[in-house]
Amino acid sequence: MGDEGVQRMEFMLALRQRGISDKAVLRAMDEVPREHFVEPRFADSAYADRAMPIECGQTISQPYVVAYMTEQLSVKPHHRVLEIGTGSGYQAAVLSRLAREVVTLERYRTLANGARSRLKTLGYSNVEVLLGDGLGGEPIRAPYDRIIVTAAAENIPPALVEQLAEGGIMVLPLGPHEGPQDLVKLTRTKDGIQRETLIPVRFVPLLPGQAREL
Ligand code: SAH
Repeated sequence: MGDEGVQRMEFMLALRQRGISDKAVLRAMDEVPREHFVEPRFADSAYADRAMPIECGQTISQPYVVAYMTEQLSVKPHHRVLEIGTGSGYQAAVLSRLAREVVTLERYRTLANGARSRLKTLGYSNVEVLLGDGLGGEPIRAPYDRIIVTAAAENIPPALVEQLAEGGIMVLPLGPHEGPQDLVKLTRTKDGIQRETLIPVRFVPLLPGQAREL
């Protein structure tokens, strides 16, 4: 087996060892070629379990955190998923293997365009990449069965809670921009919103408005 094959085997093993057990999630992680989502200079270490810089000063999340958030979302094949923070498009690609449809919003034009063409080339045709401010969600297509936010919010964005379907689940990192953040899971029930704190995480900040730079 070549180096890449070994790295991918170790990658899958590490996810299992860290506790990812949902078979569909593991399959999705196995299927999506991460080397196409990192910058070319990092292609050799694409399967290392760490976050990496992408354009516009942003990051592609660590594979374990992508798998963990995806597992916590309990995505079913008929679900429509909203993602805030497209970045490289990697998390959206993983979700697209599990859901009927993924809508993902990014505030940087460069990242949105890059992710859109990457996802198209790789054949992930059930993902729609939109340029815009994720704090407002995408009300025209609401409600969503699942919402995932991949940038840290200081407070729960009310528009996103409004766009969550009944029985819906939202996973988001919450906390100060440069400080300790927790992954939080919100579930919308008939009686209101249930909140559960998951694991400590470190994400780039969720910032308001479309980015002024490209
Ligand atoms: N899910 C990405 C990780 C992206 S990092 C991946 O798999 O690669 C978080 C992303 O959120 C960044 O690209 C950042 O520009 C974006 N972001 C931050 N605030 C945002 C907002 N208000 N609306 C949309 N995107 C936002």
